[in-house]
Amino acid sequence: MGVVESSPALPDRPVCPNCHEPWLRPANLPGRYRCVNCLHRFELVSVCPTCGEHGTIVRMSSSATMICNTCKGSMLREI
Ligand SMILES: [Zn+2]
Ligand SMILES: [Zn+2]
Repeated sequence: MGVVESSPALPDRPVCPNCHEPWLRPANLPGRYRCVNCLHRFELVSVCPTCGEHGTIVRMSSSATMICNTCKGSMLREI
């Protein structure tokens, strides 16, 4: 009773590093992403741009692979 149908929360949704909106979508190329909000393009890098730590790229679109394990920064670089 009274179940409110809320929009599904998607905490794992990749957030655009540029506009910080959750509109990052995988592009045609592997490791490439495009923000459908600001139309900026990004690529997933193997070395963290923030702390220089190597990350593990998993061929998945999960945002977990986009976050540096060391500094929790984004592993996405604008291209
Ligand atoms: Zn954006
Ligand atoms: Zn890092």
